Amino acid sequence: MQHFSQKVLNRFGSKVDFKYLENGQLDHNVCWEWKSSKNPNGYGTFWYIKSSILAHRFAYEAEVDDIPYGLEVCHSCDNHACVNPSHLSPETHDVNMKDMVNKNRQSQGDNHKKSVLTNENAKKILINVYNGEYKSISQIKKIYGVGKTTIVDLLHGKNWKPIVKEIEDLLKIPVIDLYYMVAKPRMDDDMINYIRELISQGQSASSIARQLGFARNTISNIKKCISWAEVP
Ligand SMILES: [Zn+2]
Repeated sequence: MQHFSQKVLNRFGSKVDFKYLENGQLDHNVCWEWKSSKNPNGYGTFWYIKSSILAHRFAYEAEVDDIPYGLEVCHSCDNHACVNPSHLSPETHDVNMKDMVNKNRQSQGDNHKKSVLTNENAKKILINVYNGEYKSISQIKKIYGVGKTTIVDLLHGKNWKPIVKEIEDLLKIPVIDLYYMVAKPRMDDDMINYIRELISQGQSASSIARQLGFARNTISNIKKCISWAEVP
């Protein structure tokens, strides 16, 4: 079990709508909803050590146990905003998917019967990358049992185009941004141009550095044309 400082726990607790019994004790049976910011899927998000993490995952790690590597934390109550640890359990992706399909939350129908990565999984990967659930492409590869190229193509919008379009419309970001969230950063001409584009959009060096996993100075130097100036 992870030990978070009391200060962090207090900050977390101040964002939870705890429910109490008549005797004043916490009611562990009902949902405790997240009152603060949520991602487009309705999951609470919490700022912790310079990154935005999922509130229900934090609640589980703070109150119950570490989340085994690669597992997702599922809601037995099906309420994404809920952070009551008694409604949370770590499950493999497959179990979570079956549960989702049973509950009809995911759209049905898959026209790519032959592809290893189903439409549902493609969508799930994009959403989970956005939610910060994966640290690397290799991790995604392991969970879904598909090749690296499959994931890279998906995150470049080369395949599963209807799904990619749907997710881009939903998240209001190009799918390539998701690629940079999990790809090991490599400074090449493409990356330089992408960074310059973000700079021209007015994003700060520290924000860009955080998103892409570079040092802030690296970004500042690109901004000031101290480094990589030769890239057109
Ligand atoms: Zn709940």
